[in-house]
Amino acid sequence: MKKLLLCALLALMTTPTIFAQDYKDKITLVIHGGAGTITRQNMTPEREKAYKEALTMALLKGHQVLKQGGTSLEAVEAAVRVMEDSPLFNAGKGAVFTSEGKNEMDAAVMNGKNLMAGAVASVTTVKNPIRAAIAVMESSPHVMMMGKGAELFAEKQGLEIVEPSYFHTEARYKALERARKEEKVELDHTEKEKKAVKKGSKTGAVTPQDNLIFTEGKKFGTVGCVALDQYGNLAAGTSTGGMTNKRYGRVGDAPIIGAGTYANNTTCAISATGHGEYFIRSVVAYDVSALMEYKGLSVQQAADEVVMKKLVERGGEGGLIALDRQGNIAMPFNSEGMYRGYVKADGTIEVLIYKEER
Ligand code: ASP
Repeated sequence: MKKLLLCALLALMTTPTIFAQDYKDKITLVIHGGAGTITRQNMTPEREKAYKEALTMALLKGHQVLKQGGTSLEAVEAAVRVMEDSPLFNAGKGAVFTSEGKNEMDAAVMNGKNLMAGAVASVTTVKNPIRAAIAVMESSPHVMMMGKGAELFAEKQGLEIVEPSYFHTEARYKALERARKEEKVELDHTEKEKKAVKKGSKTGAVTPQDNLIFTEGKKFGTVGCVALDQYGNLAAGTSTGGMTNKRYGRVGDAPIIGAGTYANNTTCAISATGHGEYFIRSVVAYDVSALMEYKGLSVQQAADEVVMKKLVERGGEGGLIALDRQGNIAMPFNSEGMYRGYVKADGTIEVLIYKEER
């Protein structure tokens, strides 16, 4: 009897180590940099190279955190920050403009271990909105803060605050001018933008940055990351500037828990990109999780069901990345392409852009 008890005690004591060991081989990080009309015809070798380099850098940063024993949340933050600091993506530095000519950003994070979540909406001065979302989760009793209050909170938390002009990029401003002319709300790239930039007409000369960012066609440039750490915990994060020419105060799906961002250790972690209004109405991220939980679907089946069936039927363009606790990845999108990539425990990296690479 004594022996039995001792064995049970030993087993209990070693269980966490065994688990950690198990998940050490499974650590995985997946990112997206937006979906949309991204085709080989729209791409130049320079542009492709720039995006691939930025995506690879984000993957490497996140992987380094996971490898060194960091949490999935820390890895998500590290990877998303790389993309927020790049003007190539519609998040942080490269955020698009509202109809009033401002950059209003949204971001969210969720921890799959304890279902804690944090989000900010319509912030204009926080250099890395993903950090502010984490601060809301970790240092406030709330889930979402917006506008001035969120900015004040971020400042009090010691986060880096910048002038709104930090987010001004010529390329994005030109996109706003074009959208204003056509009186429409645009996802950050459209075919028309592409043609306009190619002609170099309408809004002025083509800058190298225009060439990098705008000639690829319609694109939802939100960034996101999902990760699994060596402790077996999932996390998700999403950051965006939203949609070009969006009305003042418009908030998309990215900061809405269950729409653009969700994580739950019992199912998966998800970050979405696409036409936010559709994603909010379809509660996309939670729907993927619910299909796994209630219907027993795999992460791939659940993600495909939502993105390739439900969203398509409803006219919602975009995609998502999803990751389960076994390290299984799904990256479906119903648009032409999606900037995406993943890194596995052994350091294998894959960066993909086009549809045919699926
Ligand atoms: N989902 C974002 C929004 O609607 C846009 C994007 O994915 O680029 O705000």
